[in-house]
Amino acid sequence: MGNIKTVFKFGAHYLRRYWVRLCAGLLLGALFGLANASFIGAAKAITDRFQPAKPVSVGAAASTTEHQLDKVAPGLKARLANFKNRLNAAMDPWLPRVGEALDWRRILGALLFLPLLVTLRSSTDYGSSYCLGWVSERVINDMRIEVLHKFSTLSLDFFNRSKTGDLLTRINSDTAKLQNCLKSGAAEIVKESVSIIGVIAMLAWLNWHLTVFALVFLPACLVPLAVLGRKARRAAKASVKAEILQSSQLVELISSIRVIKAYSLEGQQVNRYTKLARELVRHGMKGVQAREMINPLLEVVSMLGVGALILYIFKTQTSIGDFVGFLYGVMALFISVRKLAKVHIMFKQASVGVERLAEIMREEPSVKEPSSPKILTGFRSEIRFDNVSFGYVPDRLVLQDFNLAIPRGMQVGVAGASGSGKSTLVNLLFRFYDPAQGAISIDGVPLREMSFGSLRGLMALVSQEIVVFDQTVAENIALGKPTATRAEIETAAREANAHEFIVRLPQGYDTLVGERGATLSGGQRQRISIARAFVRNAPILVLDEATASLDSAAEAEVQRAIDHLAEHRTVISVAHRLSTLAKCDRVVVLSHGKIVESGTFEELLRQGNAFAAMAARQGIVAGGNL
Ligand code: ADP
Ligand code: MG
Repeated sequence: MGNIKTVFKFGAHYLRRYWVRLCAGLLLGALFGLANASFIGAAKAITDRFQPAKPVSVGAAASTTEHQLDKVAPGLKARLANFKNRLNAAMDPWLPRVGEALDWRRILGALLFLPLLVTLRSSTDYGSSYCLGWVSERVINDMRIEVLHKFSTLSLDFFNRSKTGDLLTRINSDTAKLQNCLKSGAAEIVKESVSIIGVIAMLAWLNWHLTVFALVFLPACLVPLAVLGRKARRAAKASVKAEILQSSQLVELISSIRVIKAYSLEGQQVNRYTKLARELVRHGMKGVQAREMINPLLEVVSMLGVGALILYIFKTQTSIGDFVGFLYGVMALFISVRKLAKVHIMFKQASVGVERLAEIMREEPSVKEPSSPKILTGFRSEIRFDNVSFGYVPDRLVLQDFNLAIPRGMQVGVAGASGSGKSTLVNLLFRFYDPAQGAISIDGVPLREMSFGSLRGLMALVSQEIVVFDQTVAENIALGKPTATRAEIETAAREANAHEFIVRLPQGYDTLVGERGATLSGGQRQRISIARAFVRNAPILVLDEATASLDSAAEAEVQRAIDHLAEHRTVISVAHRLSTLAKCDRVVVLSHGKIVESGTFEELLRQGNAFAAMAARQGIVAGGNL
């Protein structure tokens, strides 16, 4: 029960929006339950008519029932008998009876009595499933969008600690499991609960003693249910774990296919996948066992009940009508119980996913926009890093007490060994992370007080990881400024040295570049991202090893585009390849998160310290030609 509550508590927020259809679905479900229960009465009514009419149409056992009832609730007997008689009187001309003449009404009644009942039952069944299906499709859609929205608001540290497969599983399969629950689970809970109550009421009406007798066996069903429910949940948890590993591996395989092929790792990768798939099957089968074991177990329990019932009926010599009605009722009861039991297992399994979704929804971004952010419309004076300390993990500072002022219009180069904290500097400037101590400010306004939009609007980033989306070339460039016109896009492309190769593409600017820009070379992709920065026309340009992943021919072309882009802008250029920093007004050298040297390129070379040594390794010497 706890798990059903968990699932509905989480779903309630999404279900509320569609309450009209939800209520319609639940109401139709309740009608289905009642229609289902009415079959017992129908079965008894028809069977009773195989005997000639008695002065009182109520069986002997039923009389005892009413006798008993009278003790519990006086006055009820009279009302019940009244209702029964009126119902019988209304139905009598429409149903045939042994020993009485068949007129057209009775023929029609005999032909249509059961079809009408079945139509009522199946149309409410369809209607209820349709409405709840309608609701659940939308709820899941909303939920997926909300999870994605949540992901997008979370900070980079969240993505650093999460596995891609885990995030994929949450958004795809955790929600899918929940969908099943809401779609069929909610419907079944209502339908079958009403069925059970209706059937029990009908049975009690037919024969009170027999009903108590039949119900004694119901609690026996709870034992296997509890055991199997726990088993199902355990299996679901283990399945999710294996699923995460599997989708993570899949993402890895697809995104690193070049290296995998180069090292002939295909076989090893397939083996890893197979192993995880086997694991998934193993846990999946445990879930199947739990779910499917419910039926046979409950069937056996219910038949024990039926056996005892038959014996009881023989002993008390109940009427044949009661017997048929009763047998049908007990069967219907156990069918409903079995369905509810399956729903129980389903909810147990889905609760694992719901807990994972709730976990994501509770997650808060570590970098938050202030409630009333300042909007900066332009960049006027300077960027300052004041006593900034930062580490990705506590106790391991990457930047320590870092100070740097970058006046407007200056081009600053940042050099340093790999791992010295250069990209971290860029991450902090874009406020992907907040410093642990100190502050970064633009024109005297701390980044923490600015709106994300105005902060990031001031800057354009061209980095080593070249990101091209599976859209047209023009759309890819326009990502820098969503309102860009085609003319602006073309100008930006020309400035970025990209126009010539773009017009040679099959559909020019409207060529789809393929996922991750697969149809373009590295240099071409980088020039598209430089065009993107051009069209953005931001006053601050941040370059993080923009040419590091390119070969030297492509590098020269891209460097030309970058030099052009850097004109009249404030530039922070991070580079491992020092030649790219030669034109900077000032170069700072980072080591272990601290500035160890600072000056013009030539000055640093002449000082003969770490920078000069690094440069010498790259074939650059003081006074030399680059
Ligand atoms: P650089 O760009 O100078 O090569 P980085 O700024 O990328 O160096 O990294 C500086 C240090 O921070 C390195 O020791 C690196 O291992 C660590 N680091 C970088 N990114 C992360 C991260 N997402 N989580 C934890 N540590 C990180
Ligand atoms: Mg780096």
